[in-house]
Amino acid sequence: MNNTCVLVTCPMFTYLEQELETRFNLFKLWDHSSSKAEFFNNYSSSIKAVVGNTKVGADAKLIDSLPNLEIVASYSVGLDKIDLDKCKQRGIKVTNTPDVLTDDVADLAIGLALAVLRKVCVCDQFVRSGNWINGDFGLATKFSGKSVGIVGLGRIGSAIAKRAEAFQCPISYHSRSKKPNTNYKYYLNIVDLAANCEILVVACALTEETHHIVNRKVIDALGPKGFLINIARGAHVDEPELVSALLEGRLGGAGLDVFENEPEPPEQLFALDNVVLVPHVGSDTGETSKAMADLVISNLEAHFKGKPLLTPVI
Ligand code: NAP
Repeated sequence: MNNTCVLVTCPMFTYLEQELETRFNLFKLWDHSSSKAEFFNNYSSSIKAVVGNTKVGADAKLIDSLPNLEIVASYSVGLDKIDLDKCKQRGIKVTNTPDVLTDDVADLAIGLALAVLRKVCVCDQFVRSGNWINGDFGLATKFSGKSVGIVGLGRIGSAIAKRAEAFQCPISYHSRSKKPNTNYKYYLNIVDLAANCEILVVACALTEETHHIVNRKVIDALGPKGFLINIARGAHVDEPELVSALLEGRLGGAGLDVFENEPEPPEQLFALDNVVLVPHVGSDTGETSKAMADLVISNLEAHFKGKPLLTPVI
């Protein structure tokens, strides 16, 4: 396999790059950023596999420029940066990294909810700045027992529900279809879900249908005592609407791991103490990153050995 040409789209976890380098003839697209045309002239027909992630996947332009591409292996579970229709048309296989990251992302969703409601970051700043000497901090909002509405009861959504249940939170959800294997209350409409929960957690896949699924109507249904947690993708939320709702006190608070324009979230959020912002780190632990990297490699090895893929998408 050492002669098989694999293209990595952008800098990733060092371990993944190193492990790929020991097995394949690895090309790093960013090494050729000043001379992309030359790179494609010289190597486009040699590339058999692309490894992408949540930042740079495989869009139609990249796929079209690689005539012998056989497989796209994503170092992510989300598929929104891959042109799946184009891959289907061309008979290109696609893999992702489901399950191994579910616990981390669900943990972070609960962490964000706790951090926002209990004002953990503001408390931390209060202690560090020496303000405690001037008096007590004040009161926060209880998390245990709050009703949690989940948008997308998939692997991560279900793991969030399980964790929230341990905090005695009643669970409800919205997705395209009612799940037969759960007693959680189902809402066919996301506005009804938002109107009937106190914490709305976005955990669905980003598609054309779910782009800006959290719009002004949903935010207003959640209301001034409601909280929004987003660990899925930034583009699920209409951010200007979110910002104005927070500034106008029409929403209680938000915990956000993802933003529409990463790495540049709306600056108006920075001054607000009822939001907690983290830089798209849902699955970024050493343990999970290694498990994701190993899965990417196992999928590529399986493909090039003619064996079944471990986590096929198409
Ligand atoms: P999954 O098991 O495929 O779940 C996706 C869910 O999205 C499904 O339950 C699906 O439910 C729902 N969905 C799809 N279209 C919908 C629609 N139009 N309306 C409502 N719900 C819809 O995927 P997963 O492993 O849980 O991952 C979920 C997402 O989390 C990924 O796509 C990714 O974007 C994000 N993620 C973020 C991080 C991070 O670092 N923050 C890390 C990993 C993943 P139905 O089919 O029933 O509609």
